[in-house]
Amino acid sequence: MTVRPRGSLSLQAAPHRRFNPLLREWVLVSPHRTERPWLGKVEKLAPSSVSQYDPGCYLCPGNERAGGTRNPNYPSTFVFDNDYPALLPHAPGGAVNEGTLIVAEGEAGNCRVGCFSPRHDLTISRMSQSGLRAVVDMWTEQFQELEKIEWVRHIQIFENRGALMGASNPHPHCQIWSNATLPNIPERELNSFEEYRNDKKSCLLCDYLQLEMQHDERIVCQNEAFAVVVPFWALWPFETLVLSKRHFAAMSDLSDAERGLLGDILRRITTRYDNIFETSFPYSMGFHQSPVNGHAHQEWHFHAHYFPPLLRSATVQKFMVGYELLGSPQRDITPEAAAQRLAAASETLS
Ligand SMILES: [Zn+2]
Ligand SMILES: [Zn+2]
Ligand SMILES: [Zn+2]
Repeated sequence: MTVRPRGSLSLQAAPHRRFNPLLREWVLVSPHRTERPWLGKVEKLAPSSVSQYDPGCYLCPGNERAGGTRNPNYPSTFVFDNDYPALLPHAPGGAVNEGTLIVAEGEAGNCRVGCFSPRHDLTISRMSQSGLRAVVDMWTEQFQELEKIEWVRHIQIFENRGALMGASNPHPHCQIWSNATLPNIPERELNSFEEYRNDKKSCLLCDYLQLEMQHDERIVCQNEAFAVVVPFWALWPFETLVLSKRHFAAMSDLSDAERGLLGDILRRITTRYDNIFETSFPYSMGFHQSPVNGHAHQEWHFHAHYFPPLLRSATVQKFMVGYELLGSPQRDITPEAAAQRLAAASETLS
């Protein structure tokens, strides 16, 4: 079999693999499969009637949580320690190591929950500018507070939205986990940022954003401070990456104007998500910020990932199974096609 010359590779027609420079792994793309005739029927979910207040919700103001604690009648954002934390601040240290094969280490951490507002029904896509600003301020304050704990190395702020993502409560909220070691993915990204900076004397994501701006085929939307792209190496059909246009490492570096613009860009991308399949779009999203309490991390570039599970409609989701668990992740619809659909979607909710 002859090998095709590189220049003839059609990214829109031929099976190929794409490299993810952040995680240094490959994703298989099979665009020829989307040529199969598709009836294009979009199944809509019946609109779920979510009320502003739910007496049975443990996140709504004034309600009782597990263990009997009562939430205050909070008027804006509200942060509390998770009643069922995955990590504990005073976890015992120590380690197990049998021949480098059976290895374990004690891990200390904190788990907090942050409600975006008192409203049970107000998703990011429906929040006002001032409401969003309060959420960004809450994230920044949490980051700055947790960073002061000397043993904390990583602060993970994330949101699981929708029952498809296993979110146990529809009340819009995030989780804030901080722990003593770098989790797998941030550690791999840190290595990539460091190596790229050593090799090229520049920043991986600054250079990548510049390329995306030149190509202008995977940019979904942007404002003065942030751009949203479907990354060239996206695994999930409508995965996006939110990139700051300025090089900085963490929320504590956000200017006053950038805090407002971060809220703006998150509202715009989530509204586009809600509009493409006319549903309250489920996703996992989270910020990747530099490690804390070590040396300064000039190589790190602040960003956020959105990983939505939906594929073709409100009811058809992508599963990471089979080849993807055993080999590499694989996708049919190209990142370019996904970016086009997201870029064409409205930023106004119907
Ligand atoms: Zn609620
Ligand atoms: Zn950068
Ligand atoms: Zn990342």
